[in-house]
Amino acid sequence: LRVMFTPLQHDSGKRGGIIAVVADVTEQQQMEHQRREFVANVSHELRTPLTTIKSYVEALLDGAVEEKELSNRFLRVTMSETERMIRLVNDLLQLSRFDSQGVRLHCKEVDMNQMLRYAVDRFSMFSEQQEVTLALDIPKPLPSVYIDQDAINQVLDNLLSNAVKYTPQGGRVVVHAQIHAQNRVQISITDTGIGIPSRDLKRIFERFYRVDKARSRGQGGTGLGLAIARELVQAHGADIEITSELNAGTTVTFWVPLFQGGSAR
Ligand code: ADP
Repeated sequence: LRVMFTPLQHDSGKRGGIIAVVADVTEQQQMEHQRREFVANVSHELRTPLTTIKSYVEALLDGAVEEKELSNRFLRVTMSETERMIRLVNDLLQLSRFDSQGVRLHCKEVDMNQMLRYAVDRFSMFSEQQEVTLALDIPKPLPSVYIDQDAINQVLDNLLSNAVKYTPQGGRVVVHAQIHAQNRVQISITDTGIGIPSRDLKRIFERFYRVDKARSRGQGGTGLGLAIARELVQAHGADIEITSELNAGTTVTFWVPLFQGGSAR
């Protein structure tokens, strides 16, 4: 609480009492704190790849460029760090658009069976590379859903990429979908990966919140994937949840609305 006292004075100079203004500034302070933290995070996230790039370019200029194999390796690191910075800036721009204009959806009737098949196909090569099996489990064909296809594809991509990224060789990722009460389809992505400690779970959807920053960066992560996924799912009026057990695996579940004939939203 902030309390401000202003003494009242008559024209004659006589004291006329006091006005006390009591303001609750907790929320304001929290927002200011979050904003500062966010700016510090962004700066740090950009400085890390820039520092790496700088040191590799320096090494090249100092002579590494003469050695073919070495220079190749250094240039590859420079390339992947640059790509990660581009992803980071794109993610940041997307989140800042959400913050200033809200999430704009263009919903239509979509075949979720097909959409999930395509999503799994997009990740077949990556999962093979990582030696993780990837399976789709739709016990009963799903009715149409009413969604923004690009938005939900992005959610699926972010979640699938995490599931494969954070699952060691020999593990398994399963995309499961079924109809759920309250006119929704429930989609869950389960992996047998490294899991998330329970103390980190409640903050995991926050921007830049990561269990292991070095590991995330090493995998090309930006720390914004889950935050963006949550914004996109919530914009559909639906929820997203995560459950996890350390060294056992993680399940992320989200819901999307069913298509209700011509009368959908
Ligand atoms: P990142 O780019 O770091 O992957 P995300 O926002 O997608 O960013 O995820 C935030 C953090 O949540 C990750 O850094 C990781 O620590 C944790 N995480 C997300 N998905 C999984 C998963 N399937 N298994 C284990 N940890 C995960």
